Amino acid sequence: MAEHLAPDDLLQEYAAGNLSEPLSLLVATHIALKPESRQTVRFYEDVGGALLEASAPESMSNDAFERVMARIEADAPVVPDGGTAAAPADDAERTREALPEGVRIAADVPAPLRDYLASTGSKASWRHRGGSVAELDLLPDFPGYKTRLLRITAGSRIPQHTHDGAEYTLVLEGSFTDATGRYARGDVSVADDEVTHQPVAGQESDCICLAVTDAPLKMTGPFGRILNYFVDM
Ligand code: ZN
Repeated sequence: MAEHLAPDDLLQEYAAGNLSEPLSLLVATHIALKPESRQTVRFYEDVGGALLEASAPESMSNDAFERVMARIEADAPVVPDGGTAAAPADDAERTREALPEGVRIAADVPAPLRDYLASTGSKASWRHRGGSVAELDLLPDFPGYKTRLLRITAGSRIPQHTHDGAEYTLVLEGSFTDATGRYARGDVSVADDEVTHQPVAGQESDCICLAVTDAPLKMTGPFGRILNYFVDM
């Protein structure tokens, strides 16, 4: 099954420190689960660092580019940044401790996201959105973004919709499938106003995702207008 890694430009912006807090959280959690993306981020960090060094006045010279590449090639092997470095047992225990009482996630939650979940408070709980979707707001006060954990009941679908802006979805547990493929733990889906989809959760378990949107979704199914009126997705 093909992996769905975060797009390169997103990883590059993350490495440069240019992403907003919600998207940084999503990428940090993604790279804790996907070594290949972690390596890409490390590469861009090295390129950025080396270019900065090379552009310092005292080190300007004709061989700047060669030195940049030599530095990158000589760099130490990638060391995991995040949750995956710890022993699995520790991670599971930390996850249980960090989760609010009303929010059960069977899979380990990587360190970056764990801290945000812990900050929602022990009384936080899933909010039912009707049908098969429940959500938990993270970063509720961050302007311009909606950052949520979504739980879609196993085997059920969320309403067909398109997007005014961008929608980034990182799968933490279970899976979902839409016209662009199947997304499992660690995979990232990016959808925008060109994409109309109706994600369906896999049968194996509820699908739990971290979803970041920078504009409300637009329901497009037969009851779309009514849903848009009631559902502030
Ligand atoms: Zn969508």
